Amino acid sequence: MTRIIFLGPPGAGKGTQAKILADHWGVPHISTGDILREAIKEQTSLGIKAKSYVDSGQLVPDLLVQDMVEERLQRTDTTSGWILDGFPRTVSQAAFLDNLLQKMNLDGVMVINLDVPDDVVVGRLLERGRKDDSEEIIRHRLEVYRSETTPLIDYYRDRKQLIVIDGNKSPQSVTSNLKDLIVSC
Ligand code: AMP
Repeated sequence: MTRIIFLGPPGAGKGTQAKILADHWGVPHISTGDILREAIKEQTSLGIKAKSYVDSGQLVPDLLVQDMVEERLQRTDTTSGWILDGFPRTVSQAAFLDNLLQKMNLDGVMVINLDVPDDVVVGRLLERGRKDDSEEIIRHRLEVYRSETTPLIDYYRDRKQLIVIDGNKSPQSVTSNLKDLIVSC
């Protein structure tokens, strides 16, 4: 059973690695950022509510994202596992996820923190050039990451679920470290 949560700053390579591993194990890659961008494009009611937050690099309110994740994790394609990318991002989202998984009788989630220094991350994001990747918004997203999401590192370390991987390497070597590590757990 593969259930993995990716932590790490924007630009750490979470999306890239999550996609590769999800294909490798045949489980869905669930990216809250991708779901939100799609909802914005389709102008669904979720998308309309989320747009100003995503465009300005702020976190979408917990309740909106939590409902979205709850619905997604209950779909039938998740029975053999999933890889979550971009959720949880706040301690209250993490507590919500713990409750949800308990309710669903699921345990054994592995949390991977992709560790990459700030200057490397900013360089990578500027190259990527997504709409929310202007330098000012990148800096804001990093601040939000530092204040809202880094507390999750201790949260999961205390629960003995945390694994730290050096993300400041080539994508191929990060993938191979991840595969080795996850198979050995
Ligand atoms: P990402 O693609 O993961 O970098 O997410 C892009 C944007 O989507 C973020 O800057 C937030 O505005 C929003 N977002 C994605 N995941 C979450 C989440 N778990 N909680 C709140 N906002 C989120």
